Amino acid sequence: MNALSSQVLVLNRLWQPVNICDVKRAVSLLFVGHADVVDTDKEAGFQTHDADSWMSHSESYKGSEVLHSVSHQLRIPSIIVLTHYDRLPKQDLKFCRQTVFERDKFTCQYCGEKFENHELNLDHVIPRQKGGETSWENVVCSCIRCNTRKANKLPAQANMRPLNEPRKPRWRPFFLQASVQRIAHTSWKHFIELPPGEISLSS
Ligand SMILES: [Zn+2]
Repeated sequence: MNALSSQVLVLNRLWQPVNICDVKRAVSLLFVGHADVVDTDKEAGFQTHDADSWMSHSESYKGSEVLHSVSHQLRIPSIIVLTHYDRLPKQDLKFCRQTVFERDKFTCQYCGEKFENHELNLDHVIPRQKGGETSWENVVCSCIRCNTRKANKLPAQANMRPLNEPRKPRWRPFFLQASVQRIAHTSWKHFIELPPGEISLSS
């Protein structure tokens, strides 16, 4: 295996998996001090290493996953954790038509039926005319028929209430991101929850 081609799992400062990068990127983040290496070898718990500490750890490392320079060897990390606030990726779901549809699982929140994208609308639970905001908490997915029926009425007036109370969704689960198709290292299992059968373990 080409050592440089292996993948490194990137955790944010809250130890949540946020990305996967290549070894070159991981090592450069380590050496500029933007990331620490997470060592999962120890039974007792995870240890983090900054660049200096990882260098000395690497000296005694006997495994095969190493980078060599003239006088040193560097063990290839499998997980790094970001140390800087400005390195926190903006993972927050953006409020838009598509993400509301996804949150509501393409299901009309009034009649409970599932629809295709083009058959769906966004509905303001409290109508805009009556001061309702365009927000996660006041907008739901609605089929065109229900949307027309509800029109500018309040839920009580229309006798139509959303099936689920609309709220801001939590972060998009990491495994749904296109970049993560498989787990490259067994150590990642500590941090990534897999939907059964969808992602295979490659080593
Ligand atoms: Zn409907």
